[in-house]
Amino acid sequence: MLATMERLAATDQFAGTGISSGDDAAIVWSPLTARVWTTRLEPCAVTCGLVIGEDHLLLIDTGSTPQQGAALSMAAARALGRPVDRVVVTHHHDDHCGGLAGLVGAKKPGAGEGDADGVQVWMHRAALARLADAPAIAHPTSLLAYIDLGGLAAEVVYPGAGHTDGDLVIRIPEEEVTFVGDLVETSGDPQADESTDFWNWPSAISSVISATDGKGRYILGHGDPVDGHALMDQNARISQCVDQVREEMEAGTPVEKIQSSREWPFSPETMADWIPRIADQLAARGITRKNLLPLSKR
Ligand SMILES: [Zn+2]
Repeated sequence: MLATMERLAATDQFAGTGISSGDDAAIVWSPLTARVWTTRLEPCAVTCGLVIGEDHLLLIDTGSTPQQGAALSMAAARALGRPVDRVVVTHHHDDHCGGLAGLVGAKKPGAGEGDADGVQVWMHRAALARLADAPAIAHPTSLLAYIDLGGLAAEVVYPGAGHTDGDLVIRIPEEEVTFVGDLVETSGDPQADESTDFWNWPSAISSVISATDGKGRYILGHGDPVDGHALMDQNARISQCVDQVREEMEAGTPVEKIQSSREWPFSPETMADWIPRIADQLAARGITRKNLLPLSKR
């Protein structure tokens, strides 16, 4: 089967499925290892993964639309003779989970017998809760999950709140490959939304480094694969943002003056968005101006 995949890839037949991905671009799966493949889809240049076990095909992230989700599975079926039957969604953002309905059908929670067509899906409970029209899935996940693909395992880990409050990381130990979703981003500044936990984000990245011993390749939702150094670098940059906001708050700098008071590791646009939100999250944790308090109250 793998030989077939490699031959198809070599002749470019695997790339040309003729299936529209929503913007008339064909789906192109590229091998990262013999059993881990990736493809990049528009919009947002989002990376999806395909992990090939003897018994099951695991798709990691589903694209932006139900049509893309279905096309990803059909492209795998065209090449391998069987469709995707296992899916992990790294988090709730549209470019990662928008294809889910095309894989499991549009069943609503409580609809009954689980996922359609034998497709089993893992997604964090917090991420599911953020979907307006969440399909029923077999495996709402809180902390850990193990997926036996047949001769190959996928470990699903919740590293704690970070980019969102429901990011899942998928480790394929035998291939030394880890999918980290948008927990780490190199194609631009990391993205944040209303569910981002700036305080905990560096810890979440540290958890991924620890769980993987910093070894192997990390596949990002946006950007090329990286090694452990890139994770440590992003960890340090986000920590720097939080630490600098905290130091300025403790020094009594008004929030609107914090950005101009320091150098920052991300763009001015990103920091203009982040600093007030980091300040709000720190204030909620009791970080206040230190210098004006009398000694007895410090
Ligand atoms: Zn995201």
